[in-house]
Amino acid sequence: MDNLSIALQTSWFLTTASTLLGLIVGSFLNVVIFRLPKIMEQAWQRDCCELLEQTPPDTPPISLSSPNSQCRNCGIAIKPWHNIPVLSYVFLQGCCAGCGASISRRYPIIELCTALLSFTAAIAFGPTLQLAGALLLIWSLIALTGIDIDTQLLPDSITLPLLWLGLLLNINSTFTSLNDAVIGAAAGYLTLWSVYWIFKLTTGKDGMGFGDFKLLAALGAWFGWQAIPLIIILSSFVGAFIGILLILLKKQGREVPMPFGPYLAGAGLLTLFYGDQLTATYFSLIGF
Ligand SMILES: [Zn+2]
Repeated sequence: MDNLSIALQTSWFLTTASTLLGLIVGSFLNVVIFRLPKIMEQAWQRDCCELLEQTPPDTPPISLSSPNSQCRNCGIAIKPWHNIPVLSYVFLQGCCAGCGASISRRYPIIELCTALLSFTAAIAFGPTLQLAGALLLIWSLIALTGIDIDTQLLPDSITLPLLWLGLLLNINSTFTSLNDAVIGAAAGYLTLWSVYWIFKLTTGKDGMGFGDFKLLAALGAWFGWQAIPLIIILSSFVGAFIGILLILLKKQGREVPMPFGPYLAGAGLLTLFYGDQLTATYFSLIGF
């Protein structure tokens, strides 16, 4: 076998494996998006009760693995063969096998997006440490996006490990130099922290959450300080565009707070795939 066919086989295997893995992980991310906020809520409730010396409510504890998945309408346990990513949704025609209640389209959409982005990462990075990092980053950003849209929260249990992982990967300059990564993490946090305080002191309102600072710090740790202006510009433009669109379509009032995490996550993904080109264009535009 010549080198070309070995390379073709490796890339075929890698893209197929990444896509299948993406489908399976996407299915798991649906569980994370639905359950993690509930797990956090239970923990807060327990802490509050402990502080106030009250007995905590007698609700069964939730974790990512228990209780088993069940239909939210009729409570029937979801069988493993009804849980195959995308295929089960198509086969069941989007309805619960027990009661026929419709299943949210979001489940297959998240599975497909995860698979598609994992496939793209395999093409973009090939068999490298960058691919392993990129997949973990993509999956974390998808989970954060879903949770922020639902609950306006960006859990520390995802953002902080993401920040550490970015720094650790860059010990070997996987995405950027360690120096740029450390400065990027600090710059990411401080930029949005400053925006938050300027907004708060001038308007008296909370413009964004602390989770947003941590997410931008994490992205700074992955891609270096050079990517911070780009991520802020990309996320603000897309955020403003979608915000105005939602107000125009009357789907949302002006006063409804908008989660910023999904736009940061989107900008983070664009930086992952096109960061070098975008930063070069950006620096040349401002004359560097
Ligand atoms: Zn049902």
